[in-house]
Amino acid sequence: MARSSSPLVNKASPTEQRRLLRARRSSKRVTALSPEALLDATFPVLQQDDAGVVAAATAPKRDATVSDETLAVHAGEKMGKNGAMDTDSIVTPIVSGTTHWFKSSDDLIAFREGRRHSFEYGRYGNPTVKVPEDKISALERAESTLVTSSGMNAIVATLLALVPPGAGHVVTTTECYSEARTFIRDKLSKMGIKVTFVELNDMETLKAVLDQSDVTLFYTDCPTNPHLKCIDIKLVADLCHRRGALVCIDSTLASPINQKPLTLGADIVVHSATKYIAGHHDVIAGCISGSEALISRIRAWHHDLGGAISPDAAYMTIRGLKTMALRVETQNQTSLRMVRLLENHPKIERVYYPGLLSSPWHDIANSQMTGFGGVISFEVASDLHGVMRFVDALEIPFIATSLGGCESLVQHPAVMSFWGQSDDEKAKNGIKDNLVRFSFGIEKFEDLRDDIIQALEKI
Ligand SMILES: *Cc1c(COP(=O)(O)O)cnc(C)c1O
Repeated sequence: MARSSSPLVNKASPTEQRRLLRARRSSKRVTALSPEALLDATFPVLQQDDAGVVAAATAPKRDATVSDETLAVHAGEKMGKNGAMDTDSIVTPIVSGTTHWFKSSDDLIAFREGRRHSFEYGRYGNPTVKVPEDKISALERAESTLVTSSGMNAIVATLLALVPPGAGHVVTTTECYSEARTFIRDKLSKMGIKVTFVELNDMETLKAVLDQSDVTLFYTDCPTNPHLKCIDIKLVADLCHRRGALVCIDSTLASPINQKPLTLGADIVVHSATKYIAGHHDVIAGCISGSEALISRIRAWHHDLGGAISPDAAYMTIRGLKTMALRVETQNQTSLRMVRLLENHPKIERVYYPGLLSSPWHDIANSQMTGFGGVISFEVASDLHGVMRFVDALEIPFIATSLGGCESLVQHPAVMSFWGQSDDEKAKNGIKDNLVRFSFGIEKFEDLRDDIIQALEKI
């Protein structure tokens, strides 16, 4: 029962259908743009002269391509037109006002009729919040981005907006961020939404599910946590699009530096910006990127859900983004050097990291990532108590959940997130008592290495 277009398109009115189809096409077009073309697409610096000719205004001269390092610093600010900010300050001001005033009734009418832009009210948008949105759009090669109060808020708003209650069908994977998985399993299913779980790399089952029913949206993390499994995003997008299903990837563990799911064919990419994007373990935030048509549907729900990020948290996110490329590059290097060392250490049984040639996910990861991130997991040749001795002997990392910040963190999943759960529950999630997860920060590799080696001696 092959279908040629999305179930969402099938149910829409003719006008809506044309709009959705246009959105599909335009999102493809955007993903094909070079960073340079993208800057112009995302942040037009255009002026219309008297003859109606649109010409580029005084945009700064740039090289043919702009790198992610430069985009992280300048997109949405010096590069691009941040019309809301009439300032010569080098850094974006924190606009703390919750509402925006109109000069007259005519001015208000001009806004209502779309002849002039205003942010109107803080829950709908804010000039400071627009900056990280534009930066993330540039980095993800997206037409549009919504920055939200948390990663979970981004995920829930996306699912509520794109999957119709009573008719929708979400397919997700057995290994995926636990709160998102629980929300899909326990809450969406109560809204008359069909939920199917498939194994991350079981493409045959995914194909069968797509063939047998109208799937609205496929949702997964890539890479996953804590086993760093990767899904072939291009292949999944191809399979899903043939059957009219949308693809949403939680790319948090990759960061926008290491992986760009939209360029691989995904329709939506979400991040917990709490992690690599903000990067300092000091702000909770989330983001959703994709075509303007899809993001505006999510934006409408976001306005009702009230998941607006505060301007202060948005400023912290901008500040984090400026150094993201440097941080992630260091975290990539530290992790890769560490797993190569640990893989051959006699007290380590197994290492999970997609950057390792021995990883079953290496080929997929290598084809779609430019770095493999700062999270590694491994199983120690010992039991629960031996691993506790190892963790307690570490001097640099904090024992804490979360990832992606400047400080290295270590967690022992059997104690941190699975304490008190049955062996069965742990086995179902692939959590052994001897599994340890590190999120490397930006400390010096040699210091982290020496610390881990001395702690392994204490087992
Ligand atoms: C942390 C995390 C989330 C949730 O993000 P919050 O900002 O904590 O709401 C979602 N997905 C992944 C992969 C995460 O690591």
